[in-house]
Parts: sequence; C-alpha cells; structure tokens
Amino acid sequence: MTSTSVLLLAGTSEAAELAALLADRDDVAVLASLAGRTRSPTPLPCPVRVGGFGGLGGLVAALRDGGHHLLVDATHPFATQMPGNAAKAAAIAGVPRLRLLRPPWRPVDGDRWHCVASLVAAAVELRAMGARRVFVSTGRLDLAPFAALAGVHVLIRSIEPPDPGVLPGPTVVIDRGPFDIESELALLRQHCVDAVVTKNSGGAATAAKLTAARRLGLPVVVVDRPPAPDGPVVATAAEAVAWIGAHRHR
Ligand code: NAP
Repeated sequence: MTSTSVLLLAGTSEAAELAALLADRDDVAVLASLAGRTRSPTPLPCPVRVGGFGGLGGLVAALRDGGHHLLVDATHPFATQMPGNAAKAAAIAGVPRLRLLRPPWRPVDGDRWHCVASLVAAAVELRAMGARRVFVSTGRLDLAPFAALAGVHVLIRSIEPPDPGVLPGPTVVIDRGPFDIESELALLRQHCVDAVVTKNSGGAATAAKLTAARRLGLPVVVVDRPPAPDGPVVATAAEAVAWIGAHRHR
C-alpha cells in the first residue's frame, strides 16, 4: 500500500486530535511540526520536528525534501506568519494544503463583549472603560501592549511564566487548560477582576472564562482574528481526515 505523507503544522489541540486520529493508519504517515515555543509541549502520537523552517524557502524545501504529499496547517487562529507561508509554500511545491481552523466564539445573550482589532486596541479599550483589575488571558507572549496600563492590576494565566519585567507587578497563575466554569468563576472572584481580555481563539478548552464573565456581568474585550489566506478550511480533525482521504497519494 502506498503511504500518504502529511506534514502537519501543529501546536493546537486540533493538530493533536488529528495526529491521534491518524496514529493507527498505515496508509498515512504524519510528521508534526512544532514552532518550539512551549518547553514541555503535549506529546503527539507521531514523529515530531521542532523549530521554524527558516521562512518560506525553508518550508518549500521541507515539503520537497521530505517527500510530503499533503500539508495540513493546524496552527493557531492567531498564528500570523505560518498560514501565509503554508499557503505560498504549498503552491510553490505543488502540494495540496488544508487549513484546520476551529470556529471563533460568538457572543450570546448576556455577554458584554467589546470587539477590537488588535491587542494594542484592547489595551486602549480597557483604559477607556476604566477597568482597574484585568484578567489578561491572551498568553504570556502577548503581554507587552498591556504594559502601558499604569495603575491597572493585571492577572495573567499561562502555561509557563512570562518574561520578568514585561508588566509591572502582575499576579501570575501557572496553569494549563482545559478550564471549567466553576474554576473560572472562582479565579475571577478571588482576584476581584472587573474586566477580561481574550483573543477570539475559539474552542472548548478555554471558553469557560466567557461563561464565567457573563455570569458575573463582566465586560470582555475580545480581539478579533487576523485574516486567513484563501483556500480550503475545515473546523474539525475529523473533517481533516476526510480531506486527507480525498487527496491521498495513489
Ligand atoms: P506565527 O507568527 O505564524 O509563526 C512565527 C514563526 O514561527 C513562523 O514564521 C515559523 O518560523 C515558526 N512556526 C510557527 N508555527 C510553526 C510550526 N507549527 N512549525 C514550525 N515552525 C513554526 O505563529 P506564532 O503566533 O509565533 O505561534 C507559534 C506557534 O505557536 C504556532 O505553531 C501556533 O500554532 C502556536 N500557538 C500560537 C498561539 C497564538 O496565540 N499566536 C497560541 C497557541 C499556540 P519560520 O518562518 O522560520 O518557518
């Protein structure tokens, strides 16, 4: 049987789900690629390479040299470089590409969302609303725009500690999702949070903070996603498996 080689741009729960769905298939060989941002990434049930490719040319070379038949871009909705590089590299190398992208969250009745276009705009919005104690749930690499919020107490939660000095005197909680509503309610109450900031990452693992904020009547500043390149998009790992089946190497 001819095996279809898939280069999987990973770093998300959807990528991990896809790798798991394909792990026992002997007609599909997956090589997962991680950027290497997290020192202890969740283990994947497939071979893994770590680190950037060195830009567009490096990704084209990786596709060709690796003999990959398909490229699945399952990077995060807020990954800014990789989706564009993936689209261009796949076109150059003549390799079909799929974007695996979880749907964004949508507001429901009772939500007090303030949608903004960027992290910088989120900091401006927080200042405009007079927030004093903010839960910044954007991740440790996206904190710099909030350093300008003088006099505002910032609560951060991340998998690894943020760089020291990125913000003046934050409270840091080290934790890894998924999170449930009760624990999110407890966190917001314990730290007397009066506003929440989040990127519109979508997905179930970190959605409970939105429900908790709604129940407490708190405003949430929601950073909209960057635009995605054109091309086929699916929302779930199961749909990605079907796409791989339809494009398998013969
Ligand atoms: P990015 O802006 O798209 O990527 C920056 C550079 O990191 C890319 O140009 C590439 O370097 C390298 N890179 C990114 N993803 C890679 C992958 N899967 N395998 C190999 N190299 C990769 O993305 P980012 O925002 O820095 O995020 C980095 C990674 O963390 C992504 O894989 C993303 O899925 C994951 N992540 C991001 C967020 C977020 O909020 N941004 C949240 C959770 C997870 P070269 O140009 O050298 O190839």
